[in-house]
Order: sequence, then structure tokens, then C-alpha cells
Amino acid sequence: MTTATTLATRLADVRARIAAACERAGRDPAGVTLVGVSKTQPPEAVREALAAGLVDLGENRAQDLLEQAEAASTAGLAPRWPTPRWHFIGHLQRNKVRDVLPHIAALHSLDSARLIEEIERRWEARPAGALAGASDRLPCYLEVNVGGEAQKSGVAPADVPALLAAASASRAIEVAGLMTVAPQVPDPEQARPVFRTLRALAEAHGLTGLSMGMTEDYAVAIEEGATIVRVGRAIFGERRT
Ligand SMILES: *Cc1c(COP(=O)(O)O)cnc(C)c1O
Repeated sequence: MTTATTLATRLADVRARIAAACERAGRDPAGVTLVGVSKTQPPEAVREALAAGLVDLGENRAQDLLEQAEAASTAGLAPRWPTPRWHFIGHLQRNKVRDVLPHIAALHSLDSARLIEEIERRWEARPAGALAGASDRLPCYLEVNVGGEAQKSGVAPADVPALLAAASASRAIEVAGLMTVAPQVPDPEQARPVFRTLRALAEAHGLTGLSMGMTEDYAVAIEEGATIVRVGRAIFGERRT
């Protein structure tokens, strides 16, 4: 079996599991976007994903995103390659905003008022035409540390209103919803309350987008209302680092 077959097979399996979770929850699979997290994977893996029809791709480090986007855009020169949509999913340092902005379709990790200010400052000045189909505003998910884990980024649930107010006031940002990374637990069922809390928090603020669910827990996240899941290892295999 070739690597390409393996990735395509894994991808099909993930899509089938997404469909099954939607079925259980009485949801339309069209309401769930799959983002393939390519971190630590070589550019060839990204090309295989694109060839298999996975166009939403995620990276969590600025330098890695820039390198992957560069390599994938070369692949995009051939007409049969779809254009990737890059999602930034990790903590974004303010000094990386300028470099990353022209390449991303969405930011999943908005976590401070200072980051909002920097995005606003750099948004107008971003190079034109860098991103195909770029909109007026950058879709952003506010990252919430639901589990209150010390080592995780994201704001506490209590700080969501202030961050939301600042993001909503920004000309550069379209608030897409909320995002969380659930704690690592032996049984994905244990992550369910975290997803449920994020959903309740979003509903309380009139937000519909929910970026939640990874390899271990995306089925549970979908049952709890995820609209966009970020899946790495289940599609690309184990990380290479
Ligand atoms: C790495 C990463 C993922 C994907 O993790 P997997 O367990 O490989 O699916 C999702 N979200 C974030 C924020 C990540 O850093």
C-alpha cells in the first residue's frame, strides 16, 4: 500500500466517523468542517491531503505554517490541485501576526486583547492578493481554556465577554465562534462536559461556530455540536518530530 492510499484511506475513515457522529446527533454532516492538522508532516503529506480533497489545513506554529503554505502554493500551480485554506490553530505571538495574516483563512486561537490590536494594526497593511478569496475580515474563534489547565492558552470562561466585546469592535475581525482544546483523558467521554460547556458559553453569547474535537475526541465533540474539528494524527499518522 502506498502512502497516498494510506492517507486517502484514513481520511475516508475520518469522514465516515464524522458522518456517523452526525447521524447519532441528528445533524447534517455539511454542518461540520474537517480541518486536517498537518503539523510536523512533510510537504508531500499536505499534497496528498489536497489531492484527496482535503483543502482545510491547520498548523499551530507560524514558521511551520509559512513553510507549508509556501510548499503547497507551488503544488497549486498545477490546475488540478485545489487551493488550500490554512487555519492557524496554535498560540499566535504578536510578532508573528504580520507574516501569518496574508496566508490564513481563519484563526482558531484568539486569546488576548493585545493580539486583537495587533491583528487590527496589520490587517489593513497585509499584502493584497496573498490569499485567494480573502474577505474583508479575518474569521476568528475565541480560544477558551474550559478545563482551567495551567499549561493551556485561551481565556477563562469568565473572561469571554470582555474578549468578545473587543473582537466584535474590531474592523479586522469576524467573530466565528469559540474554540477549545479538551484535556487529554483516557476516555473521550470524559471530554464531553468540556465540549458541552463551550457550547453553552457560545449559545449564551449568540455564537454558532464551535471549533472543538481532535483525533481522540472529535466524534464526541460533534455529538456536542462542533461545527469545525481539527484532526491531525487520524489523517496524517503519528507526528514526525
Ligand atoms: C495538534 C493539534 C490538533 C490535532 O491533534 P491530533 O490529536 O493530532 O488530532 C488540534 N488542535 C490543536 C490546537 C493542535 O495543536
